[in-house]
Amino acid sequence: MPDGATVFDDEMPGVAKLDPGLLGAVRQAATDAADDGVEFFVDSGWRSPEYQEQLLHEAALKYGSEEKAARWVATAETSAHVSGDAVDIGPDATAWLSERGAEYGLCQIYGNEPWHYELRPEAVDHGCPPMYADPTHDPRMQQ
Ligand SMILES: [Zn+2]
Repeated sequence: MPDGATVFDDEMPGVAKLDPGLLGAVRQAATDAADDGVEFFVDSGWRSPEYQEQLLHEAALKYGSEEKAARWVATAETSAHVSGDAVDIGPDATAWLSERGAEYGLCQIYGNEPWHYELRPEAVDHGCPPMYADPTHDPRMQQ
């Protein structure tokens, strides 16, 4: 995603290919946050499988192995970004979202990724589920 991309940039595949429910929730939250003077930038949304593999490869070089990189980067098969079910929000909005996100069904999933949000519709009534410390604790990543 280019710098300064927002959740309203429909012409970008990273935004347009997000799950419609997630995109709707993020747009609603972004609209309300704007009233509080908080701007929502998208660092990463939907990713192609090829791009996800590239990220994993780069992370494996950085952290020494794919196993070590798994704390930060999922495979193309397991990534919620590839399925369009996750969005990484710019640092300006993470504090606002951690406080208000659950009202929109938007939840931080991993303790080590304060920017990574997914849709959990039940959070509107019940609050967000407990976070995993990092993605290696997420059963969805055990494939
Ligand atoms: Zn993410």
